[in-house]
Amino acid sequence: MRRVRFRDPAGATRTGEWTDAIECDGRSYDPAAVEVLPPCEPTKVVCVGRNYVAHADERGADVPDRPLLFLKPPNAVASHGATVTLPTGVAGNRIEHEVELGAVVGERCRDVDPAEATGVLAGYTVMNDLSNRDDQRRETNWVRGKAFDGAAPIGPVLATPEEVPDDATVECRVDGEIRQRASREQMVFSVPELVSEVSRFLTLEPGDVIATGTPKGVGPVEDGDRLELTVEGVGTLQHTVRA
Ligand code: MN
Repeated sequence: MRRVRFRDPAGATRTGEWTDAIECDGRSYDPAAVEVLPPCEPTKVVCVGRNYVAHADERGADVPDRPLLFLKPPNAVASHGATVTLPTGVAGNRIEHEVELGAVVGERCRDVDPAEATGVLAGYTVMNDLSNRDDQRRETNWVRGKAFDGAAPIGPVLATPEEVPDDATVECRVDGEIRQRASREQMVFSVPELVSEVSRFLTLEPGDVIATGTPKGVGPVEDGDRLELTVEGVGTLQHTVRA
């Protein structure tokens, strides 16, 4: 099932199932005619860096021997269909896209065993880990580089785990041109390993997102660009950016 949160034409917040249309309480809604909301309301987004070897290589960085973790706060979340206003960075303004599989937590948990980890997940979504490279490069704490308003577009749905194959394709297109395309099989640390590791340090809450790293092909986004970020089984998160 692919669950969508949306605001109906009367302004009410609803949850429905996204098939061809959005089905909710016996009614069908045209996805293009409603405001799609983020599929979950995270207390935090836990991001994993350099979790694909080819992306670490393109960044000139080593693959870490344990997951490299950083946080995005709730203010970073943006929805499907949003126009994200890019920040004016302190060190510069090279903002890049990073398509990622987002694992969405379904229950409060801590110290989760890897063998139990998929059981605490509500499912999966798509996330764009928007990153200001100029600020990121200049600082060891990536608040300016990674945590700005709108730096985490997520959606369009929360897909239950069985919808997303183990070898799901992860892809990013900018104005229709494919920039990133890989299989989640290429992750260094698997989703269960990531859930387990993060939960050793942080209590995970329902709706929290673990963004599982981006494959190679990251590149700049500019004023007016239309981004389409796809995870097989979840669907396509679409948003634009404005300088
Ligand atoms: Mn990332």
